[in-house]
Parts: sequence; structure tokens; C-alpha cells
Amino acid sequence: MGQNLVELARSGGIVGAGGAGFPTAVKLDATCDTVIVNGAECEPLLRVDQQLMVDKAEEMLETLAAVVEQTGAKEGVVGLKKKYVPAINKLNTLLPKYPKLRLFILENFYPAGDEQTLVYEVTGKSVPEGGIPLNVGALVINVETLLNLYNMAEYDKPVIDSYITVTGAVRNPVTVLVPIGITVREALELAGGPTIDDYAVINGGPMMGKIVSPDSQITKTTKGLIVLPKDARVIESKTRPVSRSIRDAASACMQCSLCSEVCPRHRLGHNLEPHKLMRIAAYGNTLDRQALATTAFLCCDCGLCQYACVMDLQPWKFNQELKRQFGAAGVRNPHHSSDVHAIRFADTHRFDVHRLISRLGLARYDVPAPMIPDRLDYTTVSIPLSQHIGAPSTPVVSVGDTVTRGQLIGDIPEGKLGAKIFASIDGTVTDISGNKITISAA
Ligand code: SF4
Ligand code: SF4
Repeated sequence: MGQNLVELARSGGIVGAGGAGFPTAVKLDATCDTVIVNGAECEPLLRVDQQLMVDKAEEMLETLAAVVEQTGAKEGVVGLKKKYVPAINKLNTLLPKYPKLRLFILENFYPAGDEQTLVYEVTGKSVPEGGIPLNVGALVINVETLLNLYNMAEYDKPVIDSYITVTGAVRNPVTVLVPIGITVREALELAGGPTIDDYAVINGGPMMGKIVSPDSQITKTTKGLIVLPKDARVIESKTRPVSRSIRDAASACMQCSLCSEVCPRHRLGHNLEPHKLMRIAAYGNTLDRQALATTAFLCCDCGLCQYACVMDLQPWKFNQELKRQFGAAGVRNPHHSSDVHAIRFADTHRFDVHRLISRLGLARYDVPAPMIPDRLDYTTVSIPLSQHIGAPSTPVVSVGDTVTRGQLIGDIPEGKLGAKIFASIDGTVTDISGNKITISAA
């Protein structure tokens, strides 16, 4: 794989497949000491990466070795959980071919896949407050992102499909490759459809995922769809109004500080103590207490504080509200200390994923979601112009144009951060509106 990976990522529309969709070309245009593959997949119920690390192990390691070379790194490390035995076995059979690559085995805790937590586990270094892994010489990349780079390098195939797990209250939980732009409703049918009438769908994991409409689209960053009854605890938590969260903080927070003890950013040494922020929630005057309140900027929204709290309070939601208020007031994160010292996790402070699943009320849905053959036979897709961090793509096709799968349909606006988008089926452009390009097969 001798190509320039930055150019491959840019021309293939590759973005971080596991998170907010940061353009990979920008991330790879760097030098670092360690490239870390985030194979933790720590959100309960998701099953994509752990299966790709078996089925596409060779492709992943070959691409990782190329990223290590390109960035001048000393080594590449695949961080994955001890319980992913098939992936560990498969990768271990291939690793002798790659002297600069190794595995790092993680315990089964949440949020092991938090980028900064993973960097600390692998390198022993804490990313500075408000910083990125590169600040400590690390570059973190997702499993599927590496595969997308491989597909571009070997087959000139841009990002037009996405691997997703469809699970929860569905007939047959599955993991499957689908074209970008099909609807959530269509994806649910691949798992036999919902088993209940009154359901909600989470795009992503139960902790950090968002509730989405069945009519919304699968994008480059969709990793999982979880169907749950509307009255499930996870759904209630996500839909609970922030005003109620604040009211509950005032009446029920006993300042036990359990939330701070488990908070991954607090444990990395960052100046974030959610129990102190809850004092502001309880006593008001949020913006007046700016020095403390702005520490909310250091929260990564992992949601763990709620599930450590015996009162089921939501420090994370209050932090989001503080960030929203500060954003509206034009206040930016003032916390950038690099003098941070991690508090080593004692076993009691690592939040075991089984325990978390039980707290979330999801034990009955914690089942396999095996990989089934690719399902790419769709006749209509609506491809969002914005599937990434940065400016929306600019359409380069018009209604009535004939397009083929893999053809460029949206480009990066001149001088902006963004990502290209491509047709995921053959067909005719039938509509460009609502920030989407719709293609229908002839
Ligand atoms: S764990 Fe709950 S009760 Fe304890 S300090 Fe945190 S929010 Fe308050
Ligand atoms: S969501 Fe809670 S536990 Fe997670 S980083 Fe924010 S304050 Fe800490």
C-alpha cells in the first residue's frame, strides 16, 4: 500500500466511522509516536468492530502498518477487549508479519473506547484538558475507518456503504453492510423488524447514541440501531427534560461524589468533578459561577455519571446544558492545562459493562448480532450532504443526472473542512433538497 493515505482519505470521502465523522485526511496529515486502533467497542449491544476484526483482520493490519509508516510512528497498537477472543486469536496469527504492530488487551469496562481513556491505557499519558491525542503523540483511528482506507487503496472504492448492528427489540439481531442513504426503517427490516409497536430507535450505543426517526438515513458514521420500548429506562433518560434533571439535582443530590469517582475525564486528571457541578445545578446562578461551571467543557458526554448515581441524576445532561448556555453567550473552553495526572483506576472504579447493561435494563437484549451477507440491493437512497464535522458537501450533480455507484455527487466547499460524498447505488438523481441528494434506480 504505497499510496499517500492523506490523499486517499480525502478523495474517498473517508471520515471517522465511529464517532462524529471527523475528516480522516486531516487527522492523518500528522506525525506521531503511536497509532492506536480503537477496537474497544465499549457501548453495550454494538457488534460491528469486534466482528470486522475477525473477518477483515488482514486488511485492517495491512492498513494500520501503512498508517504507521506514513505518520512516522514507532508502533501501531490494536486496543481491544479481552472478551473478543476470536478477534484476538485471528489477529495474533497475523501479527508476526507486522513487527511494528501489537495488541493491547483491555478489560471489559465502560468507557474503554473513549479516545482519551484508550490513549491513557495504551501509552500511560493523559491528553491535556481540551486537547486531542496528538498532543501526547498518539493518533487514534477506528476499525471501519481503516477498512475504508483499505478499500480506497485497493479497489478505488470511496465510502458508500456502512456496517451497522441492528439489535434490541427486533426479531433477529444482525450486523450487515448497507448502502449509505437507506432509511432506518429499511435497516430494521434486515433484522426482521421491531417486535413491538410502541418503540424508539437509538442511532449508536445506548449511552451516547441519539434517538432518531425511522425515516432518517444511514450515514457514514452509523454504527448501530437499537430498538427499545418507548418506556425503556434508556429512552426515558434521553428524553427527560433538562429542567427536570436540574430540579432533581436540587432535591436529590446528596453530594456523595460517586459520579466524580467514576468520571473518566476526572480520572485522567482533568479538572472535572461532576458532583461539584451538581451544586450549581442545585443552587442556580450557572453563568455567575463561571470558573467552576466552565469545567463542564471537559465532559465527554459518556453518561457514566448517571449510572453510578444511586439517585439516577444526570450530571452529563446538566453539563450539556451548561455548554449550550456558554456557547450561546460566546464563552469558549478556558481549561487547557497539560499539568494533568491520572488517578489510576482501581478495579472498583472501572464500570464493568455487564453491570452497566444491567443498570440500563438491557440484559435481555445483550445477545449476538451475527454478520449476514451484504445487503446492497436498494432502489432508492437519500444521501445527506452533512455526514461529518465541517461544512456540508456542495452538490456536483443535478436532478435528472444519471449516476453510478461510487460516483462523486457532493464535494468539499472551497477552503472548508469537509468530506466528499458519493452515490451508493446506480440510478437517476430525483431530488436535491432538505440537505439530501435522492437517487432512484431506473
Ligand atoms: S452520584 Fe448522584 S447523588 Fe452523588 S454527587 Fe453525583 S449526582 Fe449527586
Ligand atoms: S458524562 Fe459524566 S462521567 Fe462522563 S465525562 Fe461527563 S461528567 Fe464525567
